[in-house]
Amino acid sequence: MKIARIRLYAAPLPIKGGPWRWGKGFEMHAGTAHVVALDSDTGLTGWGESAPMVAFYLPAHDKGIPAVVAELAPHLLGLDPRNPAAVDAEMDRWLHGHAYAKSAIDVACWDLAGRALGVPCHLLLGGRRSDAMPIFRTIPQPPHDDLDARLTDYRAQGFRYFQMKVGGDPSAEAARVRSVAALLRPGESLIADANRGWRRDQALRFAHETRDLSLTFEQPCDSYDDCLSVRRRTSHVLKLDEAIKTADDLFRAIADDACDTVCVKIAKQGGLTKARTIRDICAARGLPMTVEDVWGGEIASAAVAHLAASTPPDMLLNTTDLQNYNDGEIATGAPTVADGCLIVSDRPGLGIEPVMAALGDPVAVYD
Ligand SMILES: [Mg+2]
Repeated sequence: MKIARIRLYAAPLPIKGGPWRWGKGFEMHAGTAHVVALDSDTGLTGWGESAPMVAFYLPAHDKGIPAVVAELAPHLLGLDPRNPAAVDAEMDRWLHGHAYAKSAIDVACWDLAGRALGVPCHLLLGGRRSDAMPIFRTIPQPPHDDLDARLTDYRAQGFRYFQMKVGGDPSAEAARVRSVAALLRPGESLIADANRGWRRDQALRFAHETRDLSLTFEQPCDSYDDCLSVRRRTSHVLKLDEAIKTADDLFRAIADDACDTVCVKIAKQGGLTKARTIRDICAARGLPMTVEDVWGGEIASAAVAHLAASTPPDMLLNTTDLQNYNDGEIATGAPTVADGCLIVSDRPGLGIEPVMAALGDPVAVYD
């Protein structure tokens, strides 16, 4: 089997319920899903998606994806997409970095491999280890509705993990987190995610003012060294997200004992091939994970579900249903949600079919 044609689409992802606010005043009004279609010489097509949110979140941006696909396409045509690791190595050979853009190509290879073999991607990623994976629900930055009402609604839907976006004034955020913590019931967990929004002193002030609370403190500062410094001076469970981009980052964090849990995001790591490696290192080291993606619609959500389902259950803290953060639908067959958990598809590949009307005309075609 060979990659005979590469199509690239760009579809809007309107955010359900208005702008998304996090960190220190970060705001997103709409996302964009860049979708790669790999057409094989056998007539099968594989699909992958990458949605980097906004240009100031990670070293990633929407406009970079068409440029990366244009750069790599001549090197990818003719390769066998059933060998995602070989395609990934070839991408790295010809272009340094740009994990977010390579991710859509890599995920499309996994989808195509699954379709060609007639098996779901989770079987190729280690096997189905969970039937239902717990989903976390996010409480974004103010302004928003009543926290108590929001928590009650989430609880009624079966959710037990709640991630609060923090990053404003540390004392005000500590008070806000405290008010939510007081509403929690046994078996429920709270994560305060600063998305690298604080300086070291601010993160320490927040940690000090919440020191009696049981919570996970996620990516307090931008730099790894600042996160490590905070980690050494707080009793909170420390989770690293944006600081863990590569396997090298993870090896360093393990050597430094820099975190207790890790957030694995498919596009941040560079696709399912590299996310699987990060996932397996974390599992082998005993670091439990959130398995998710940066942002995205149904195709990204499906990839998340296959990676999460094939993760050892005792190493999987929670996952996400990204498609439910957006209005509209770019593909059918997304993982379903039942009683606060994500249910993966058993159909071949990712188990999705694109909604071509939502994707529109391709922005680029290479053959
Ligand atoms: Mg995070």
